[in-house]
Amino acid sequence: MTAAAQTNTTQLLIGNRWSDAAGGATYADANPATGGPLAGVAEATREDVDRAVRAARAAFETGKWASMAASRRAKIVYRMAQLIAERAGELALMEVRDNGKPIATAKGELGAIVDCFEFYAGAATKNYGDTLPAPMPGYVAYTVREPLGVVGAIVPWNFPLLLASWKVAPALAAGCTIVLKPAPSTPLTALALGKIALEAGLPEGVLNIVTGSGADLGQWIVEHPGIDKIAFTGSTATGKRVAAAAAATLKRVTLELGGKSPSIVFDDAEIDAAVAGALYGIFYNAGQTCEARSRLLVHEGIYDRFVGAFKERAQRLRLGNPEDPATQIGAITMPEQMEKIRMYCELGESEGAKRLFGGVPAHLGDGLERGLFWNATAFEALPSHRIAREEIFGPVVSIVRFKDEAEAIALANDCEYGLSATVWSQNVGRVNRVARSLRSGTVAINTPYAVFPGVPFGGFKQSGYGRELGFETMRLYSETKSVLTYIGVKPVDPFGA
Ligand code: NAD
Repeated sequence: MTAAAQTNTTQLLIGNRWSDAAGGATYADANPATGGPLAGVAEATREDVDRAVRAARAAFETGKWASMAASRRAKIVYRMAQLIAERAGELALMEVRDNGKPIATAKGELGAIVDCFEFYAGAATKNYGDTLPAPMPGYVAYTVREPLGVVGAIVPWNFPLLLASWKVAPALAAGCTIVLKPAPSTPLTALALGKIALEAGLPEGVLNIVTGSGADLGQWIVEHPGIDKIAFTGSTATGKRVAAAAAATLKRVTLELGGKSPSIVFDDAEIDAAVAGALYGIFYNAGQTCEARSRLLVHEGIYDRFVGAFKERAQRLRLGNPEDPATQIGAITMPEQMEKIRMYCELGESEGAKRLFGGVPAHLGDGLERGLFWNATAFEALPSHRIAREEIFGPVVSIVRFKDEAEAIALANDCEYGLSATVWSQNVGRVNRVARSLRSGTVAINTPYAVFPGVPFGGFKQSGYGRELGFETMRLYSETKSVLTYIGVKPVDPFGA
């Protein structure tokens, strides 16, 4: 599927066949940088979800995938990695057009997606159980990791293919079958992944893809009695609804939710590196990143120097056409998101935060007049300001001053989220002390981002539960079965019967 072909109408992937939604409805998917149409997307109904679950259930129950030799499953997952790598250029462009992110960012993601599939292809053959110490004389006990079942994978719009791959790759590797629902505004690369899965030889019904609304389809996936686990990435508000709805059928749930992650700059930091890293930490992907370092905590001793350099270098960031390889800040993905960013910038002004730069939309020419662009924005804020506490999910950073290590830790932890953090300091004792004190799923030291396959990623507190990307993630797509064998000569006969 080429990016150019995306003006076509898309279909659903159910049971290895492409089909229209029941009733044939579609909705329009647009390019956020130009406002131009990209595709008519099949608007699935609950009936379509039922079909997808039946296909996934049947694929699971026949055992064709779950009982396949793990080494064979691994080869298919690895083949998917190879096909993604071969098409990385066209997939990156498709993502850019659907999401508005810069092409350089999308290409980086494609590399990470290939790495993710390769990592889990390797993990497929290593989902070991344990041989247990004999619980009593005459017994042999061991555990096996069995595939969990049918997984409902629900992903947001900010990293559409990347976050789908964080779920699809380990679920496949573990032997699960899947109903994948991409975000309504960015469905195209998930559908392209469906084509790749078929080409890679995935058996019928193992990966099913339904497109459409979250509130309706997503909710039905979460409630559906035919699904065993929900792997959800999205906002904390929706995550809470998902956890509550999944409880009715006792589904296993992993939740990757929101964040308000701090970047903490101490007075013994390498300032140049910290400025560059803090800029990347917030303005990468236009701040539409769950782990965006949207709180910048700066020691008072270097505050003026740091903030001066931060402001000066922010002006040099290149905001523009996402398809231009030089662009560093692309479009905001959805009009609703533009409005949310506008609301928070106005709120920041009204609650007394000092705007350092930005705070307004960017108006571009050359065919991008209808595009959704927001200028890189920074406020000097107090920890109590809502812009310094709530997730904005845009290119807006709140800078807060601190006086010592204890206050930095207290400020960083004074937040309902706990997804990620960065510590900037050259003092090895301090970075390790602070890393251990932060209530955060990931702590990066002297680097803005630290997200790699093999390194568990996920949240503390209201940033969710469960981990993606790690080897331990395989356990979240498996059930542990304990097998006990009696090998004694005398029968087990406690009743003496
Ligand atoms: P969202 O919660 O609105 O939607 C996420 C997905 O859930 C979409 O596919 C949506 O259609 C679906 N959905 C909506 N309502 C649903 C319901 N009632 N039941 C089931 N599914 C439903 O989030 P969003 O705006 O698409 O994404 C942005 C949010 O995602 C931010 O809060 C961000 O921090 C978070 N996020 C977290 C991570 C992470 O790994 N922790 C990564 C990326 C994004």
